[in-house]
Amino acid sequence: MSQRTRLAALSSALVGQEICLRGWLRTVRNSKKFSFLNLNDGSTQSGIQIIADAELPDYEEIAKLTTGSAVEVIGQLVESPGKGQAFEVQAQQIRIYGRSPGEDYPLQKKGHTLEFLREIAHLRLRTNTFGAVFRIRNTLADAVHRFFQERGFLYIHTPIITASDTEGAGALFQVTTLSLDQRLPLTAQGKPDYSADFFGRPVFLTVSGQLNVEAFACSFGDVYTFGPTFRAENSNTSRHLAEFWMIEPEVAFCELSDLVQLAADFLKFLLSSCLERHSEDLAFLQKMYDPELCATLEHIVSSEFQTVSYTEAVDILQQSEQPFEFAVEWGADLQSEHERYLTEQHYGCPVVLIDYPRDIKSFYMKQNPDDRTVAAMDVLFPRIGEIIGGSQREDNLEQLQKRLRELDLPEEEYGWYLDLRRYGSVPHSGFGLGFERIVQFVTGMKNIRDVIPFPRVPGHADF
Ligand code: ATP
Ligand code: MN
Repeated sequence: MSQRTRLAALSSALVGQEICLRGWLRTVRNSKKFSFLNLNDGSTQSGIQIIADAELPDYEEIAKLTTGSAVEVIGQLVESPGKGQAFEVQAQQIRIYGRSPGEDYPLQKKGHTLEFLREIAHLRLRTNTFGAVFRIRNTLADAVHRFFQERGFLYIHTPIITASDTEGAGALFQVTTLSLDQRLPLTAQGKPDYSADFFGRPVFLTVSGQLNVEAFACSFGDVYTFGPTFRAENSNTSRHLAEFWMIEPEVAFCELSDLVQLAADFLKFLLSSCLERHSEDLAFLQKMYDPELCATLEHIVSSEFQTVSYTEAVDILQQSEQPFEFAVEWGADLQSEHERYLTEQHYGCPVVLIDYPRDIKSFYMKQNPDDRTVAAMDVLFPRIGEIIGGSQREDNLEQLQKRLRELDLPEEEYGWYLDLRRYGSVPHSGFGLGFERIVQFVTGMKNIRDVIPFPRVPGHADF
């Protein structure tokens, strides 16, 4: 079997040589003397034109090829006389792996809507749009690891099934082996009897690896998780999924201002990696979906992120002329329209909002001396609004216990978490970046369902 060359690896150094390509046909055009096949193997945006001469021994079979077929082409790489492509291949031999009945193939040449393509999520991957999206997604995943590994962070795998609810992060999916088709075992009080369940207690799919990874930060210093998280939030928006991936660094000996710096460095590193590696994919996405795409990415890489306190932001919003759907009031969470106004209109750069009211944030956030705010931060990006949420963690044992009591959270459930404050407590901080939010931002896709392989959202878990 010949060695296969990926389209992405073609270069002028290979011109004149015999190469072997394998992939799927995007278009087929026949003339009397030639068949022109456009082949793509998923490694690049632009496919390559294959020219099959009618003199080839099995030309009759080749001429019957249709869009979607899988083939192997052995032939000579030549400079292309045509515009818009550097090379083409003069086929010497074409092997047909799998034909694709042309009239049935769901991806016809005409443009399909993204909504329609979601229904064929297993085949949409063969389009230019999804080729670009998933190559960029791969680069972003790689860049996440490079960023942290280069800085000496340890990659930690936190559990998917958890007993602890990272309080308030989102609604939970319960995990059970009790059968819904059979009568539930009940306690004397008429509640479900979890001693009969697999783990002997209620457990859930994780909404965040944070509490677990804090234990690692308090032993290894600099750590991060990057894994799937689940939220049963019934919000049918263009930026929420029920299953998404989250990156959560957690850093010991780190206060809020250091965390803000880490978040800005991290986001810029991710965007630069894509600008470096994906000029062709980004140019395509820009043409199709957002004429400002590359300019926005470059602007962010070169901007200072503006740090503003929540209190100041509320003032700015209250004084602005902008008509908002939701009123702004100190003590209420900001809506996406407010977040976007701050970053897009007021500052014109990414904004880091810090020091949120204690009552709208989670129990583990570090109490500020003013007794009404906590050392939390959200990073706001144009188009998306919140892209990162994080905080310095409460490292004082008494404060944390007091907070649990105030919120009526059972202290015994958090025993191990309190131990981290009992034994050698240190200031530590961390944040969560929704992976799909950054993929969405870099690709310019309007809907988060178009940047994850097989989206899970309310009412849909197909494929
Ligand atoms: P939002 O207000 O956008 O719902 P959140 O405040 O619930 O976000 P956090 O609990 O702080 O979010 O989660 C950390 C990060 O995870 C967010 O900044 C966001 O990037 C991402 N994220 C949160 N919920 C979802 C979701 N349902 N789908 C995709 N990404 C999400
Ligand atoms: Mn949410």
